[in-house]
Amino acid sequence: MLDTPQPARAGTLYIVATPIGNLRDLSLRALDILKSVDLIAAEDTRTSQGLLAAHGIHARLVALHEHNEAAVAARIVADMRAGKSVAYISDAGTPGISDPGAKLVGAARAGQVPIVPIPGASAVAAALSVSGLDGPWLFVGFLPARASARRKALDDLRPLPCALVFYEAPHRIEACVADLLARLGGERRLLIARELTKRFEQIHQCPLADAPAWLAADDDHRRGEFVLVVSAPAAVESDDEREARQVLEILLEELPVRQAAQLAARITGGRKNTLYDLALNMKQEP
Ligand code: SAM
Repeated sequence: MLDTPQPARAGTLYIVATPIGNLRDLSLRALDILKSVDLIAAEDTRTSQGLLAAHGIHARLVALHEHNEAAVAARIVADMRAGKSVAYISDAGTPGISDPGAKLVGAARAGQVPIVPIPGASAVAAALSVSGLDGPWLFVGFLPARASARRKALDDLRPLPCALVFYEAPHRIEACVADLLARLGGERRLLIARELTKRFEQIHQCPLADAPAWLAADDDHRRGEFVLVVSAPAAVESDDEREARQVLEILLEELPVRQAAQLAARITGGRKNTLYDLALNMKQEP
């Protein structure tokens, strides 16, 4: 039997997940709350109006996005302390996950306003649910847009003994996947989850080494919204391996591969052949 519908309670903040594509992915409970709150705060009121109209909801809307979140949050908290019920929705998926919402939640908690999650769609959960991975994972969200910062972030993530989950936009998908390959190596597997829940949904898994070719094979493969899931490393990089990589990075700026490997072997005490192979790989990275 279904639980009894419960309308929004006075003086309460509801953080409501909305669909990430398919408008039918809105829970019954989300509908109950969105229909009964006094006010809906939305990341973009125009975007949300489509969803709300599709479900016959005509609520009072106020915009709360990354540029006004602190100021609007303060006003909404005052409304809730005066007894109003409020729902917050972002453009798609779960608020607070690579979306605004955290400041509002912080302000509500500081104002001792009860906060209730209304769970539902999120691209990270949808992608993981079809990844076939059952170990630990880390949700990274968007990597930095600047190539040097992105590569540095990936170098920091490389040794972690878990799968990595990223969000990416179409205009950066090729550069991002090229950096994943260069920094994480070709053997880890990549799940590309594109346009989840939408008409052209596509889920493709391959070794990272094959991913650039898959993207290049068809213009459609580079369109839409992406979640990328990289499997955990086979073995965790040891401190010695990390040191060797750091030393080679510096030497390769000035020296050819063979000489850099020879010097690195003297500096780190590592094997010359292993360091040569590593240096060769590093040299081929974009
Ligand atoms: N809060 C949202 C959530 O819970 O998933 C994420 C919002 S974030 C601003 C937007 C990013 O999420 C997109 O660039 C994409 O990486 C990912 N995303 C959102 N919808 C998606 C979909 N239908 N398919 C694949 N990725 C999606």
